[in-house]
Order: sequence, then C-alpha cells, then structure tokens
Amino acid sequence: MTTSAAADPVAQTGGERRIIVMIGAPGAGKGTQAERLAAELDLPHISTGELFREALTSDDPLGDKVRSYVESGALVPDAVVVEVVGHRLAEHDADHGVILDGFPRTCAQALALDEMLERFESVAIAALYVEVNPELLLARLTGRRICSKDDQHLYHVTAMPPKREGICDIDGAELYQRADDSADTVKSRLDKQLPPMYEVIDYYADNKVLFSVRGDNPAEEVTADLLRALGASRAA
Ligand code: AMP
Repeated sequence: MTTSAAADPVAQTGGERRIIVMIGAPGAGKGTQAERLAAELDLPHISTGELFREALTSDDPLGDKVRSYVESGALVPDAVVVEVVGHRLAEHDADHGVILDGFPRTCAQALALDEMLERFESVAIAALYVEVNPELLLARLTGRRICSKDDQHLYHVTAMPPKREGICDIDGAELYQRADDSADTVKSRLDKQLPPMYEVIDYYADNKVLFSVRGDNPAEEVTADLLRALGASRAA
C-alpha cells in the first residue's frame, strides 16, 4: 500500500486534527482495517483492546483493573477506558490525529470523547462502521489465529489457513488463539457488546459523521471503500 498525497488527512483538512473512529462488532475486521488505514494515512492506530492486552501481560496496574472484564468478554467500565484513551490522545504522535479502534464502544464513551476533543482547536471526526452479517461473527472469531511474533499476521482455520497448521507463513512463529476467542467468551462478547455498539452507531449517525462500508468483502476492497468514505467525509 502506498501513502498518496490525496490520502493525507492533514493536507486535506488544512491541518485539522483528524479523529477516525472505527466501529465494528468483534470479528468484523475493524482491527485489520484500522491498521491498514493507519499505514495509508500515516496516523497512529490506537486499539483499546490492544492496550488492555498489553497491560494484562505486564506489571501495569491497569491489568488488574481490566482483567476480569476482558477475560469474560464484558466491557471495561467507561471511566477506566476514558482515562486510558485520554492519556493516549495527549501523546505527541496523536497531534495530527488518530485511528481509534474499539473506542468508543458506549454512548457514554462517545460523549466523553467529544468532551476530550473540545480542548483541541480544530478537529474533524469521522466514524467508520465496518458492517458484517452477525451470523458470520461467531465463526470468524472462534477460527481466528494470530502469529505469536507479530499480531498483524492473522489467519483463520478455514477461511485463511496457514500453509503449515499452527505456523505463521511469514515468519515461521507459532500461531495462537486469543483467550477471549473461545466459543463461550465470543458469545458473551457479542451479547454484551453489540447492543451498546448500535447505540454508538446511532449517536454518530445523528451527528452526521457516520459512514458504513460492507466488511464481508476482501480486505483490500474494504480498505478502498473506507478511504472513499473518508474522502466524502472531508468534502462534506
Ligand atoms: P478488542 O480487541 O477490541 O476486541 O477488545 C478486547 C476486550 O477489551 C473487549 O472484549 C473488552 O473487554 C475490552 N475493551 C476494549 N475496548 C473497550 C472499550 N472501548 N470499552 C470497554 N471495553 C473495551
């Protein structure tokens, strides 16, 4: 993928801080798309799920606060998430904007984000909804496998199997399954996380900054659709 001037959000928005919110059910592929957009637009990719998983495997006290929620597939309390994102947005690499992956996931978080953004002079926000048929999600998540060396190397046991079972094609490292991708936890994640996600979608639709793309197309097509949607959002 190349970074073209036309896709440079800062150039296109006259120096505004560009906040791109990725919305999608667990398993919709929003993490993959967030990573691709981050590379294309040269913006940092901030995944709250990733920040929590990192805290769980380090001695960061945040890990103890979020463990029971993440492990059971429940949403971490809004106050904890908002504080983590607030700190992350204050870092310098976020000065031109960010791709937010997995935040906000509740209306309270969306309101808190708007409040956080008020302190910045000039902000352009776009919410991108990666829409996938809910029946596909369970199979997508339970079959997902991740490279232990680079979590951007993703596989699926049936839809995108590695050449050698359990081994990453790219670097030969072992593949693993995320603990919360087990069938029981996936069901709980979908039950608990979809209703508030639909409220967030309504929130951004009401604010006229929501753009939806079909997420069950090949990844490259989804990225192209997302970039087109972003172009439309700037023109609006
Ligand atoms: P993800 O990698 O986005 O699927 O997130 C993994 C887990 O982290 C979720 O199942 C939640 O337990 C937690 N999490 C991530 N982002 C949020 C958020 N914005 N609000 C509440 N919980 C979150």
